[in-house]
Amino acid sequence: MFEILFLGTSASAPSAKRGLAAQIVKHDEYRFLVDCGEGTQRQIMQSGAGFKNLNRILLTHGHLDHILGLGGLMSTFLRWEAIEELDIFGGRSTLDRVHDLLYGVVLRGNQPPMPLRMNEIKPGTFFEADDFTVSAFSVTHRGPDCLGYVFEGKARRPFLPEKADQLGVPFGPERRLLVEGQEITLADGRRVKPDDVLGPVQKGVKLVVVGDAGKTDDLLGVCRDADALVIESTYLHEEAEMARQFSHLTARQAAGLAVKAGVKRLILTHISRRHRGRDILDEAQAVFPNTAVARDFDSFQIKREA
Ligand SMILES: [Zn+2]
Ligand SMILES: [Zn+2]
Repeated sequence: MFEILFLGTSASAPSAKRGLAAQIVKHDEYRFLVDCGEGTQRQIMQSGAGFKNLNRILLTHGHLDHILGLGGLMSTFLRWEAIEELDIFGGRSTLDRVHDLLYGVVLRGNQPPMPLRMNEIKPGTFFEADDFTVSAFSVTHRGPDCLGYVFEGKARRPFLPEKADQLGVPFGPERRLLVEGQEITLADGRRVKPDDVLGPVQKGVKLVVVGDAGKTDDLLGVCRDADALVIESTYLHEEAEMARQFSHLTARQAAGLAVKAGVKRLILTHISRRHRGRDILDEAQAVFPNTAVARDFDSFQIKREA
């Protein structure tokens, strides 16, 4: 299961109710901050999420509404909050701009208060833990190196306790060995194979997070069958021309992608101050009913949908 907490949901400039782009994706003890718009650190505090373990930041692109918060965050880390290390991930030109902000403006010759790594990434898997991976993919938006991210649980075979009970497998290490794929021998000499107690392969939960995007046809493959798709919806269809001009999406376009890709759930963010969330929601739901428009501090649990 993944959990996504929205810290900021406004496009381009904050509004009274919406901060700028930032989300925390959680899985067990892992936490990833996806984008860090201006004011993110205050949103982190207000949400109660705290800074602990918030040591991986993934950037979708280098526009200011997605990165300016890194300056304030670094300033705070210099004086107040301790963090053991920080990894920032993004495309080359995104990292160049972040480097200018952090080293040219905030640090100005001082060392960062923690080991700070700028990790240039290209499309593909760049993070792997025991039971999930994080991959990047290319997104079309203004400027080069725009990325989206897929958080995906690894496929696994569920343990069937009733089968193990029937076969008399005791509780304890024997069950763990079977789950790990090893055959075991019971006290009475009978052998039990993993196949005897494991169900059919189940795909892991898949969460796709897209930042700003100007088109959807090149996102179809990566969004296919996702349990949840988080994507921008800056405009309404009545402003489709403006959306095209600034390389953003309308609610209708985002919902169309959700339908074509067969995703289970659509969560829209990056809402222009010109629009009410209600209008974005209505337009998207006319195409794809299982849509939500995120508000700041909304949190969604992403589980595998049947
Ligand atoms: Zn933006
Ligand atoms: Zn942008």
